[in-house]
Amino acid sequence: MSSGSIKNINIVLLGAPGAGKGTQAEILVNEYGLLHVSTGDMLRSAIKEGTETGLKAREYMDRGELVPDEVVCSLVMDRMSREDAEGGVILDGFPRTRNQAEVLDASLKAEERKLDKVLYVAVSDDVVIERLSGRRVCPNNCKVYHVTNMPPEKEGVCDVCGEKLLLREDDKPETVKNRLEVYKKSTRDLVDYYRDKGLLAEVNGDLEARKLFEEIDALFRAEGFIDDDTQ
Ligand code: AMP
Repeated sequence: MSSGSIKNINIVLLGAPGAGKGTQAEILVNEYGLLHVSTGDMLRSAIKEGTETGLKAREYMDRGELVPDEVVCSLVMDRMSREDAEGGVILDGFPRTRNQAEVLDASLKAEERKLDKVLYVAVSDDVVIERLSGRRVCPNNCKVYHVTNMPPEKEGVCDVCGEKLLLREDDKPETVKNRLEVYKKSTRDLVDYYRDKGLLAEVNGDLEARKLFEEIDALFRAEGFIDDDTQ
């Protein structure tokens, strides 16, 4: 499914690490051309480039803790003020705290924009642990793989650039446990915040990626976010 063009919408993907937010964002970008704004990716790039933000973020990330709100908020707001974000964005991994959600609301409002939907990708702990321990990333950020669910063509090597794939430092089992705890503490509050605003839609993150996309696509159509070419 999914012929049609999407309206200018701003979406938040909420869900545990490993819920499949990044994979869904990638599919939504390919299908609908929305801009993917991932705070995790931006922070990892900042670390790689050795910027001031990267230096501040690294110690928190390595422990699986949240990077301070002011660091993350300014990164996101800068990104959202660029021209290519005007056609609509998918926020992945942001907001993660109520304060970040309030900062986001205020800055969108100041620019006469708004959030259209918050997709809560609900997933069980067992699935998260299985996905994260098997996740492999390309050091050049080309693509994300999974040793069994989405293996590269040649074992251990990126299909796009040929670099050796890595296990993310924070995908190691000790850190995953901490990330899940941090997530549960901070996100419960966010789920309530967006449910109260009538923006929350829960989707099933235990589903295989393409099936989950079909669920999201159906929801977008029901919301009137898609102008169907076939009509
Ligand atoms: P992710 O790739 O979304 O799982 O993020 C990896 C790590 O980056 C997290 O464990 C946090 O340390 C940090 N991070 C990403 N997004 C945020 C955010 N919105 N607020 C605080 N820390 C974040």
